[in-house]
Amino acid sequence: MKAIVLFGSPGSGKGTQAKLLTGCLGVPHISTGDMLRERVLQGAELAQTATAMQSGLLVSDELVNGIVEERLARPDAAEGFILDGYPRTLPQARHLRAWSEDRGVREVVIHLVVDYNIVIARLTGRRQCPRCGTLYNLVLKPPQRDNLCDLDGQTLTARNDDNEQAIEERLDTYERETSPVLEYYRTTPAAMLDVDGSQEPPERVSEQICLSLKNR
Ligand code: AMP
Repeated sequence: MKAIVLFGSPGSGKGTQAKLLTGCLGVPHISTGDMLRERVLQGAELAQTATAMQSGLLVSDELVNGIVEERLARPDAAEGFILDGYPRTLPQARHLRAWSEDRGVREVVIHLVVDYNIVIARLTGRRQCPRCGTLYNLVLKPPQRDNLCDLDGQTLTARNDDNEQAIEERLDTYERETSPVLEYYRTTPAAMLDVDGSQEPPERVSEQICLSLKNR
C-alpha cells in the first residue's frame, strides 16, 4: 500500500494530475481543498474557515488532520490513495508520517515543478464545472462553447480564491508554510520524485508519473 503525496505550489496541476492518476493507479483522489469547500457549502464549518480559504490562508492543522484521518479510514482507501493539497505544513507532514508508520504504509512524494509565470496563467484562467468538476483554463484549455462545460453544458465558475489578491496570498503562504515540507521530505526516507509539471498536455505528465511509480 502506498500513500502518494502530490506536492507543488498552487497552480502546479495537483488536482489535474490526481484525477488522471486515479485512472492509472486505481486508488482514490483525496483533496483537502475539495473536502473543505464541500464542508463550507454544507455549513459544517465555521465562518472563520471560509474566510481563511477565501483569502488564501491555511485553515488549522487540527481541522485538516482530523478530516484526512476520517477520510483515510474509509474502505476505498485501504489499498492506497493520492493526497492532493495535504500535507501543507510541517505538523501535517509529521502527522501523516506517524499515521503511515503505524500502518506500515510507504509515502511517495511527487513534486510538480512549474515555472512561476505558468502558475499565474493557470490560476487566473482556471474555471470549473460546478456539476461534474471538470477543470478548464480560458487560455490553455478553453471549453468548446464560451464558458460552458463540454460534458454537461453547465456554466463554468471560477473559484472564489482565484482572484489576484488571494492568488498572491496563496503563493506567499506556500513559500512560508508549505515549502519547508519539501525539505522535510528530502531529508527523511520518503521516496521523492521531481517532475516537470509544465509539460502540455497534462496527460504527458501523468504518463511519466505513472510509469515511474510502476517501476518502483
Ligand atoms: P486547494 O484546493 O488545495 O488549493 O485548497 C484551497 C484552500 O483550502 C487553501 O488555500 C486553504 O485555505 C485550504 N486548505 C486546503 N488544504 C489545506 C491543508 N492541508 N492545510 C490547511 N489548509 C488547507
